[in-house]
Amino acid sequence: MSKTTYPIVWDLDVFFKGGSESSELRRHLNETKERVGTYAKSLETFETPTSASDADLVADKLEETSSLIQHISQAGAFISCLEAQDMSDQKAGALRSEITEMNALYGSAFNVLKQKLAKTEDRVWNELLEHEQLKDLQFVLNEWRTQAQEQLSEEEEALISALEVDGYHAWGQMYNTIVGEMTVNVNGEVLSVGQANNLLSHEDPAIRQEAYEKLEEAWKEKENLFARTLNHLAGFRLNTYKKRGWDHVLKEPLEINRMKHETLDAMWGAISKNKDTFVEYLNRKAQLLGKEKLEWYDLGAPTQKEKKKLSYDDGAEFILKHFEKFSPKMASFAKRAFEEAWIEAEDRPGKRPGGFCTSFPLSQQSRIFMTYSGSMSNVATLAHELGHAFHSYALKDVHPLNRRYAMNVAETASTFAEMIVADASVKEATTDEQKIALLEDKLQRSVAFFMNIHSRFLFETRFYEERKNGFVSASRLNELTDQAQREAYRDAVNSTSPSYWSNKLHFHITGVPFYNFPYTFGYLFSLSIYAKALEEGKNYEDKYIALLRDTAVMTVEDLAMKHLGEDITKESFWEKGIELCKHDVKEYLNLTK
Ligand SMILES: [Zn+2]
Repeated sequence: MSKTTYPIVWDLDVFFKGGSESSELRRHLNETKERVGTYAKSLETFETPTSASDADLVADKLEETSSLIQHISQAGAFISCLEAQDMSDQKAGALRSEITEMNALYGSAFNVLKQKLAKTEDRVWNELLEHEQLKDLQFVLNEWRTQAQEQLSEEEEALISALEVDGYHAWGQMYNTIVGEMTVNVNGEVLSVGQANNLLSHEDPAIRQEAYEKLEEAWKEKENLFARTLNHLAGFRLNTYKKRGWDHVLKEPLEINRMKHETLDAMWGAISKNKDTFVEYLNRKAQLLGKEKLEWYDLGAPTQKEKKKLSYDDGAEFILKHFEKFSPKMASFAKRAFEEAWIEAEDRPGKRPGGFCTSFPLSQQSRIFMTYSGSMSNVATLAHELGHAFHSYALKDVHPLNRRYAMNVAETASTFAEMIVADASVKEATTDEQKIALLEDKLQRSVAFFMNIHSRFLFETRFYEERKNGFVSASRLNELTDQAQREAYRDAVNSTSPSYWSNKLHFHITGVPFYNFPYTFGYLFSLSIYAKALEEGKNYEDKYIALLRDTAVMTVEDLAMKHLGEDITKESFWEKGIELCKHDVKEYLNLTK
């Protein structure tokens, strides 16, 4: 019997003692709220710089901004941890509303700062950027300036923000409310849609099929409501773009992710050209399930039972051992996270499902949330989240305004860490069954990124095009979805999920537009870093850390050129990552002959 040496419950008291009742947190929130108020007030009279001698004033404002961001994030991270560790903690829910409101106040004040800075004359602006305290922030400051210049006037943007609350975000909330009230009856049990969704990967095909059919029925019943939420949300977005003179729906998402349209086209182009191998995998999977072709509800079905179990301690040691091979710094960082109770891994009721990593900027620490039940995929998830934590750690000495990386590179460090562990476990598997199960785990991810996410992207792009001409009916939305899925899966599935446009939350998220392609980008981008690391071994460590430190201060094209020497606007770059995934398919096909 091995004894647990690493704590399995996290320590949150180092940040604020006393959980959701914490008086330390109360004090922190009150103080931060007051500071946000002062900040907003001070920006009313803040003047656009007129000469280089205003540099100190600007620098002071930026220090105040970055300090506020850190204080808000510190509290936000703590509250996320409270909500996740105990879903019944109502006090945490109230704290969440408080921090959301504070963040909105900060956000509109910050927008005023951006707008005022953007009005600086070019000559003065360039002089300002040479100032000692502002030099390091050039990329971010220029980015703010461009963003603000492409927006409407300060007053008009303020009006849009005010109208967004009830005219835009409200549609997303409406969606959540309707979904929250939906129930599905599967196998004699009344389930939430989330619970029913989980049954789509059940080993019993009859249960999977029933869950799929009942879910499709349930979404169909409400399709006219969801057609409204989606159309109006999209309509608001398109109208805002139109007023700002933005002609392309991908403009905003591409800018958020600091990438060029060419790069996106090259990525999808390379994926589209290389789908045959993944179709072969899906066909083999169908065979193993005793079918000619897969149904939609078979995509997540397990074909192999993974028997290998690891205790938490053994899982931790496995991660440390394999991190060490690539980067001793990553290994010693992870060891610290294990030892100092940065991780909440206990398998107990009342916890939220899923996993995440959040950072506490004022303490330069992170916390990882997950539920560990001993499977190899739990070990991979743990490595994934440690990768996120390592990314924050690599950025700890970087200016806080230079740490704000976008979603497409956010998954770089995590996927890299996960890949190390997933690959090692395939290599160390002692039986073919284990190996097949582990490979399948990896392949499911490739299918998700190359086919599922691709279908979402195809659907969303086409939907927005049609929405420009007016309301898109539920039946047309079903049609568009069916087409996109058949195309993205290359007809490897017999049935599709026409309701997908309504059941995927991501289409209804108002915070971020096009919540899909950055996932695929992150996956393939980190695969090519992994390929480089395999080539160079431990020598790669410092180069890898240098790349992470640059993730929020340049475009992704520049990042790849500087640190990988690669032109990511070319399909050939993306094909290298896809090649690694194709290799997994070949191994899988061999083992399941
Ligand atoms: Zn992640």
